[in-house]
Amino acid sequence: MFEQIERVPGDPILGLIDAFNQDVNPSKIDLGVGVYRDAQGHTPILRAVKEAEALLLARETTKSYIGSHGDPQYGQHLLSLVLGSQSPVLEAKRACATQAPGGTGALRLAADFIHKTLPQAKVWVSRPTWPNHLSIFEAAGVPTRDYAYVDAATNSLDFESMLADLQEVAAGDVVLLHACCHNPSGFDLSEHQWQKIADLAEDKGFLPLIDFAYQGFGLGLEEDAYGVRLLAERLPEVIITSSCSKNFGLYRERLGTLIMVAANHDQMQNVKSQVAVVARANYSNPPAHGGAIVTTILESTELTAYWLQELDEMRTRILDLRHAFVNALKPQGLGDKFACIAEQKGMFSYTGLTPEQVDRLRDEYSIYMVRSGRINIAGINDQTLPYLCQAIAKVCQ
Ligand code: PMP
Repeated sequence: MFEQIERVPGDPILGLIDAFNQDVNPSKIDLGVGVYRDAQGHTPILRAVKEAEALLLARETTKSYIGSHGDPQYGQHLLSLVLGSQSPVLEAKRACATQAPGGTGALRLAADFIHKTLPQAKVWVSRPTWPNHLSIFEAAGVPTRDYAYVDAATNSLDFESMLADLQEVAAGDVVLLHACCHNPSGFDLSEHQWQKIADLAEDKGFLPLIDFAYQGFGLGLEEDAYGVRLLAERLPEVIITSSCSKNFGLYRERLGTLIMVAANHDQMQNVKSQVAVVARANYSNPPAHGGAIVTTILESTELTAYWLQELDEMRTRILDLRHAFVNALKPQGLGDKFACIAEQKGMFSYTGLTPEQVDRLRDEYSIYMVRSGRINIAGINDQTLPYLCQAIAKVCQ
């Protein structure tokens, strides 16, 4: 039977990694991959995580299942982290959390939940969005539409067009929003713009699904949650998918959370029961280790202090690189053209480089990025910055 199966092309980012690994140019730079890198080009294990793991090794007494929703203590911590410890939503007991295998796992739970319980709903995603959003909804059998987000001509957020497109959303449809650090563009909504989105959601009756994969990587842990908290407090129903891959550096441990906010406690319990069914059909129980690490950190004042400091260091390094990058392009006469890089948030930036310029950077300078011109800012360091800026100046001539 397998003889009729066709080979499909691999993920373009993985192809980029292969090409980078094979490149013998000692000056090569990888700006494609979507993980945080420190100044030495490493994706480190946080000290808070290492210490939590040492404690867990000594303390853990069982490897039994943790249940479809994961560890309830972990769930409580994530609800506070995402919605705020004083959240009126938590006070009203109208939110629940389900531990999932990564932000991706949480998104798949959301997609299956929508497919099962809201079969008429379409999901609206930003144009552009993280490509896996489309794959996840397609795999779950949920139709998608898109709304304008980035103006390609000016490489900026096109909020007016976004609002105009969202006027077309039917009541009962789902609108996927990036809480912060929009992937791939780096363009985030301002507080005022979030308020407009909340008004529109109320007016149109659409259900926001907020993907929160980078809490703490934009402006800060609390600041990045502005839109999530606003919508959860103002609207009766919101879905949130959170990831601990970036902010706890737990990528391969696969830790994410699906948060469902309902109009009241009773409806939340109904929704929660449906999420358990969806989780069971996918993987039964989530992996425990990542959640146990985060719970251990958040239950220790000392480990929480380490974690907050390390998270701040990662965020500040990215921010400093953004400014250094724009400053280094100024002598090349490109300061204005790339000024948006200092304004964008999170690891990713739309540079505005064309696919042809991206190809030249790869072929002539061994600088690797995806063809949309998206770069991972954390892939730069002080040593590689001058070479990178010279190469960009050459391909922009
Ligand atoms: N959403 C967005 C926008 C992302 O960029 C990512 C990671 N690249 C995820 C979700 C999922 O992250 P993970 O499954 O690794 O937690």
